[in-house]
Amino acid sequence: MLTDLEHLKQDFPLLNTLSALQPVTWFNPGTTPLAEGYPHVGLTREQVADASARLQRFAPWLVEAFPETRARQGIIESDICALPRLQPVLDARYGQVLAGKLWLKKDSHLPVSGSIKARGGIYEVLAHAEQLALSAGLLTLDEDYRRLASPDCRALFRQQRIAVGSTGNLGLSIGIISASLGFDVTVHMSADARAWKKQKLRDHGVNVVEYQQDYGVAVAEGRRQAASDPHCFFIDDENSHNLFLGYAVAGERLKQQFAAENITVDADHPLFVYLPCGVGGGPGGVAFGLKLAFGDHVHCVFAEPTHSPCMLLGVHTGLHDAISVQDLGIDNRTAADGLAVGRASGFVGRAMARLLSAFYTLSDEEMYALLGLLQQHESLALEPSALAGMCGPWRISAEPQRLAEQGIRASSLAGATHLVWATGGSMVPEREMAHYLAQAQSLLTP
Ligand SMILES: *Cc1c(COP(=O)(O)O)cnc(C)c1O
Repeated sequence: MLTDLEHLKQDFPLLNTLSALQPVTWFNPGTTPLAEGYPHVGLTREQVADASARLQRFAPWLVEAFPETRARQGIIESDICALPRLQPVLDARYGQVLAGKLWLKKDSHLPVSGSIKARGGIYEVLAHAEQLALSAGLLTLDEDYRRLASPDCRALFRQQRIAVGSTGNLGLSIGIISASLGFDVTVHMSADARAWKKQKLRDHGVNVVEYQQDYGVAVAEGRRQAASDPHCFFIDDENSHNLFLGYAVAGERLKQQFAAENITVDADHPLFVYLPCGVGGGPGGVAFGLKLAFGDHVHCVFAEPTHSPCMLLGVHTGLHDAISVQDLGIDNRTAADGLAVGRASGFVGRAMARLLSAFYTLSDEEMYALLGLLQQHESLALEPSALAGMCGPWRISAEPQRLAEQGIRASSLAGATHLVWATGGSMVPEREMAHYLAQAQSLLTP
């Protein structure tokens, strides 16, 4: 008699490679054009535009509360930069000259919380605060949102609680923004969350609850405690539409940045974007926004650690959140703390399955090596999770016939832009970064 797992492995032989913790690259045969995939997302272009307008309304308040956002007039956005020195180094490492040009999206340097979570996490708290202030009659949509710092608004927020479960960076974003508005906020942190992130939150007056277990347990406990408290708003990383919309705003903004850099995206100049994936909301929301902005000329690729391939597993089997990496005997232990998630968001997997081109896994050692090489050749220091996308261009370029099956012509690749989404790292303390770099060095010197 075969067990359910053995049956599943017969249907999906790739699971054997996943269980063996070997790196895999999987091109998604379910990819469709945007027009076909869009109705399945369940969220609309109009909702993303609405999120963008909401962030614009908050800009004056953000400038006051976080002076580092002044340079962009209160819009939390990051730069893009080319990586001309790293690209040939990686050509040599992977034994293939990349067609097209390598770029980096520096969400690692987003203001307020230094990671991609400064998009969705902050947006969700702002949307909640706006709704509370509007229904209390303390704010109108056309008012100057600096009004949110007034004593009556702060008194309103002080009576409200916010809770979230996190591996670290979502907690940082939600904690810092909530505390600055005046909310009573609690962050439920999984065992893998870094000590410095907990300390930084406590310094901001955030309640931090620590767990010995992984992300799934921290979220479940946070959800349970919030459920018994009518004044507590639980931010649900696995199912939140608002988080997703906050991330999606990145698409139209990137389009403007590309226009300013004269980067063309069309059939002869495809755009490939490599996104590190944890539970899926960040990369899923960004990918949706990118599809809205660039249509079928953008190809989104998700990257996960070999020890936490939850989204690949969920989308590949079609089981989404009904299966976890632990079900395959995988331990969900990785140095990429933002990616240490055993069970993917079912909402994101189902919404985005048709709009994602490929998925791959890489080892922690590879992330560390890439961290070291980026620092050495481009003087940029990121956290390990943020490097997950860096080998993606070479992974997918190695399989031209798979690209052709997705309608991407080999002749178009010379004009390609490969954008690696760097999801975090600028707030890592120096001592911690020195440790990462030492780890990288030991892997790079044979
Ligand atoms: C959270 C996070 C991700 C992935 O985002 P998800 O929404 O969990 O998929 C990637 N990189 C870093 C640094 C993160 O903190």
